[in-house]
Amino acid sequence: MSDAPRTPNRTRPRTRALATDAVWAGEERPFMDRATQIPVVRSVAFGYTDLDTWRDVALGRAEGHIYGRNTNPTVAAFEEKVRALEGAAAATSFATGMAAISDTLLTLLRPGDRVVSVKDTYGGTNRLFDEFLPPLGIDVALCDTSDQDAIEAAIDQGLQVLYLESPTNPTCKVLDLERLTARAHAKGATVVVDNTFATPINQRPLELGADLVVHSATKFLGGHADALGGVLVGDADLVARVFHRREIHGATLGPDAAYLLLRGLKTLALRVERQNATALRIARHLQAHPKVAAVHYPGLPEHPNHDVAARQMPGGFGGILAFELAGGLDVVKRVLPELRLAHRAANLGAVETTVAPPATGSHVELTAEERAALGIPEGLVRYSCGIEDAGDLIADLDAALAHA
Ligand SMILES: *Cc1c(COP(=O)(O)O)cnc(C)c1O
Repeated sequence: MSDAPRTPNRTRPRTRALATDAVWAGEERPFMDRATQIPVVRSVAFGYTDLDTWRDVALGRAEGHIYGRNTNPTVAAFEEKVRALEGAAAATSFATGMAAISDTLLTLLRPGDRVVSVKDTYGGTNRLFDEFLPPLGIDVALCDTSDQDAIEAAIDQGLQVLYLESPTNPTCKVLDLERLTARAHAKGATVVVDNTFATPINQRPLELGADLVVHSATKFLGGHADALGGVLVGDADLVARVFHRREIHGATLGPDAAYLLLRGLKTLALRVERQNATALRIARHLQAHPKVAAVHYPGLPEHPNHDVAARQMPGGFGGILAFELAGGLDVVKRVLPELRLAHRAANLGAVETTVAPPATGSHVELTAEERAALGIPEGLVRYSCGIEDAGDLIADLDAALAHA
């Protein structure tokens, strides 16, 4: 474990296994009328007869809630569960993953600052880096994701924020989080990691030294593709600063979405264990398939960063893989409609298998040439394993690939 002296208040020791925290964290105190399940508190405001108590709660001197844009009991339970799973000191939540990422970067960066990241971040994050941060006077350096030396060189030139994502979307590249974090800390930077693809079951960046972790809770955390949400965990002072921006910007997670995400989180460990196993089995199967030109999955020994992944993802290599069909988009257009057990949709991490070609999904805004420059071939398919039986998914893939 590396040490980040700038942010000593980043982690909190874990006392129970992840599967136990997934079920119990945030839900241990008695609820209204002894309900065993957390109520969805839709009340916008919370009333106080005693004005002194009202003032103390409003000023954060006493526990309680004032107004729903700031805090809410259902939302707080969701935050506590993710905090426990990531072993973080603090957590706050957002209406979406992109709200979490935007508010975090806009809190940490000022005009004249520099952020270093990679070219393969999530599409929305990439838009922030390309479109929205430069006009604010923020210098953005996006490095080749596969070139660790180039990332280190960019860090050594000085930075305020290092922003990482691993494994990446859609080609499942892996960054050495511990090494890059230590390098950035040597320059006094804050390190933020998007842990959406891995989930805390597989990878906990705070234990590798990162200061903050963001998630699109919409994906694996919720797991049922029925609620949008985002969450930020890590150093308590930094989380408090981002929380303050969010309560003013107002991208607040609603109580109904928080309830669905909480309910989904209870099965996170079960789901992700199954998805890890299925992804590895499918990756091995497709590697040997004559119609498949290449398979990208960090769990395969042939993956260029398999060793790094094995070290930093103790729980497993994740539920997402990508494979390339020789013949490009035309063949993808023939094969994908034949799948019976997959949604063709711009989502991932759900209980149902979901597939998307980058040309219509994660990188739809780019031209074929721009995708090629990012190393994303037109014949690529991102395959997010659901919790279905792996044998059924393989049979479904084989039947569809017969049309290639
Ligand atoms: C989906 C996603 C996001 C954005 O989350 P939303 O909830 O859609 O705003 C950010 N990062 C990654 C890796 C994602 O997959």
